Amino acid sequence: MLGTLVLDLDRLKEINDSFGHDVGDEVLKTVAARLKSAVCAEDMVGRLEGDEFVVLQVGMNQPDGATYLATRLLKLIAEPCEINGLQLVCGARIGVTISPTDTEEWDGRLSRPDIALYRAKDAGRGNASSFEAGMDAMFSERRRLEADLRRAMDTEAFHLAYQPLINFGDGEPVEFEALLRWPDGWEPQSPATLIPIAEEAGLIVPIGAWVLKTACHTAAGWTRPLKIAVNLSPIQFSNGDIVGIVDEALQSLGLHPERLELEVTESLWLRNTEAVLAKLTQLRSRGIPIALDDFGTDYSSLSYLWKFPFDKVKVDRSFVTQMEVDPKAAAIVDTVVALGRTLDLTITAEGVETLEQAKALKQAGCNQGQGYLFGRPLSAAAATKLINSSNLIAAESTVRATTANETFTASLKQ
Ligand code: C2E
Ligand code: CA
Ligand code: CA
Repeated sequence: MLGTLVLDLDRLKEINDSFGHDVGDEVLKTVAARLKSAVCAEDMVGRLEGDEFVVLQVGMNQPDGATYLATRLLKLIAEPCEINGLQLVCGARIGVTISPTDTEEWDGRLSRPDIALYRAKDAGRGNASSFEAGMDAMFSERRRLEADLRRAMDTEAFHLAYQPLINFGDGEPVEFEALLRWPDGWEPQSPATLIPIAEEAGLIVPIGAWVLKTACHTAAGWTRPLKIAVNLSPIQFSNGDIVGIVDEALQSLGLHPERLELEVTESLWLRNTEAVLAKLTQLRSRGIPIALDDFGTDYSSLSYLWKFPFDKVKVDRSFVTQMEVDPKAAAIVDTVVALGRTLDLTITAEGVETLEQAKALKQAGCNQGQGYLFGRPLSAAAATKLINSSNLIAAESTVRATTANETFTASLKQ
């Protein structure tokens, strides 16, 4: 029996970005040496690409041999590497599969640990996962979604929903965030599922360009100069000409750059930081505000708030939801507000669902709120109708029941 282990290193990108490619190369050499030191003479170690390695284990009782080796490799790789006086820690995820040596083609053997690796990735850093029956089905489902997404892109079957952001000063909507929706008519797929698939399938660049253009087109039809916020994936910064795409969307629709707001997340910094900063700077120099989304949930590094002049931070929903029951979540909200104020940023609270949360967030010093309390994402037509009517709050109540928000607005005006 043959054990195939596919390893995917964590943090190599961060190491390359922070300390340069020479240091990254040394880390790769150290990892390769550790892998070789852990296997038997008849086993094989190879580098597949970038931060992926493969180990072929022969002549052992399986699956125990491969499972034991995976655990040992995870431990070995997690040991700090000392390079140029730096102590660097680089974990890994491993996908494992066992196959009879004489019945499968090479490609077949490798696709299974790849599937197992997907699962190890989902489970988080420092994990090993074995190929199991059922994973084939999971992988096929992913492939099917990928193909459907590709078709949806070709036939422009996506649409956008628009969710209001409310100014805590007067309770009025000041901005709408565009959110991807698909498919039209059936049970909608969550963009939280779709976006990672689109990123892996190389579809996020054309989908992202479509989102930008469509959102700007909708905003150009509003009779009030409310902002339109658009989410950008980190992949749009590494593949494709994001600055050119934004310029084209604004110019073709005659939308002023200040009407568009671009939302990025902290995972942006996992890629080539200097190139990302240069593109963000170019976009901001046109007058487009840049917001840091889901703040505090990802690879948080305060140095980026220092390196790049963001215009806004969005306090993640997880803190807002917990702030009334967990003092630690409330302390994080207070700290983000204090930081945002010092750096002169607009602070938006996400996922506001109750009047109590809205009052507490306003009291804490947030400037804006977004959440089901103020309005669920609306169709383009409903958002436009709401904005183009003379009284936003009154019109909003025609779109949906806004008793809670009216109470909040009334409490602001007292
Ligand atoms: P996000 O950028 O944090 O967007 C806010 C998400 O929270 C939306 O989910 C919205 O429907 C949901 N939400 C808003 N208020 C509430 C609330 O009070 N309670 C609860 N439970 N949820 C609330 P949605 O539309 O499912 O989007 C999920 C994520 O997918 C977005 O999170 C964003 O990261 C991503 N996404 C959506 N559209 C796009 C897009 O066009 N491009 C990119 N790159 N990402 C997108
Ligand atoms: Ca967002
Ligand atoms: Ca968010």
